[in-house]
Amino acid sequence: NQQIILINRPEGVPTEDAFELRNIPIDKPERDQVLVKTLYLSVDPYMRGRMNAGKSYIEPFALHEPITGSMIGEVIESNSAELNVGDKVQGFLPWQLYNTVDAKAVSKINNTNVPLSAYLSVLGITGLTAYFGLLDVGQPKKGETVVVSSAAGAVGSIVGQIAKIKGARVVGIAGTDEKIAHLENELGFDKAINYNTTDDLQKALEEACPNGVDVYFDNVGGKISDAVLSLLNNFARVPLCGSISSYNGENEAFGPSIQPKLLKTRSTMKGFLITDYEERFDEGLRHLAEWLFAGKLKYEETIAEGFENAPRAFLDLFAGKNVGKQLVKVSDP
Ligand code: NDP
Repeated sequence: NQQIILINRPEGVPTEDAFELRNIPIDKPERDQVLVKTLYLSVDPYMRGRMNAGKSYIEPFALHEPITGSMIGEVIESNSAELNVGDKVQGFLPWQLYNTVDAKAVSKINNTNVPLSAYLSVLGITGLTAYFGLLDVGQPKKGETVVVSSAAGAVGSIVGQIAKIKGARVVGIAGTDEKIAHLENELGFDKAINYNTTDDLQKALEEACPNGVDVYFDNVGGKISDAVLSLLNNFARVPLCGSISSYNGENEAFGPSIQPKLLKTRSTMKGFLITDYEERFDEGLRHLAEWLFAGKLKYEETIAEGFENAPRAFLDLFAGKNVGKQLVKVSDP
């Protein structure tokens, strides 16, 4: 068995030196336990915060202990009446090739006709974050303009498509021309802007949003968000989903400059965590699946191969290497 542990708390942009691969034994499952072989790992931006020492809304990773995160696995040995060998399960577990856990610690995936990986992307936390953040916090109405940052990422790409389903005009902001083409040509965005190559983001946004901005789904914070916020219409809504531009501790100024703007437009900015919506997950998943099977929702995944490449795949999120959800394929079922 192998696990990936955190060996230091990086300052700034982390490198692979923060992680180490360690060999460990496999524990035999005891009563009511199962042995789970890891198939897919999810790497997520919020994990950067867990590498720091301070407590946030979730505990920091412990030094010299395995990274933990969302994953999909297969039961290969069972001492539980609840799960059988061959069952596919989902859980929040240590980054290990094999985990011996209580059957209760994982939930069985009743696989339909989507690839297993979809349960970590469009039919997982990613899709749910887009669904509740946009519809519950953002509340877009037909004909309104919705702007989303990190638009070609896991959450952003679903946000834009749901906004289209709801009849909004959708503008995405992303970091490469390949992503811009993907958003405009494949995902039906009305306009997408490359913030890395646009000289004047503010001006490009003004042109893309001639009627102003009614909903800004913020995944990134910092200067990109300042530019969008300057265009808010009266009674605009701003779901604060993430602020990846600040996760590595870069000193992005979050301006008090936006306060007069929020006041004048009577706009609402609201932070949310997807865990707040746990009781409504079934509702969200039902709608996401319905749109998926009706062909109204497309999803993309960038899948790194091999357990040992999980740290690299995680770090690539901060370099914008992923289109859609970044996952790591560890093993075949
Ligand atoms: P993404 O798939 O969007 O991946 C991260 C992307 O962020 C990169 O591909 C890159 O795309 C962009 N990015 C990286 N660094 C910067 C930067 N400095 N400035 C601007 N963009 C940057 O990740 P997710 O969809 O999983 O997450 C998106 C956001 O949602 C994150 O902030 C995350 O923390 C948050 N989140 C919040 C949840 C909640 O409950 N509130 C739940 C899940 C996610 P590009 O090429 O466009 O720069």
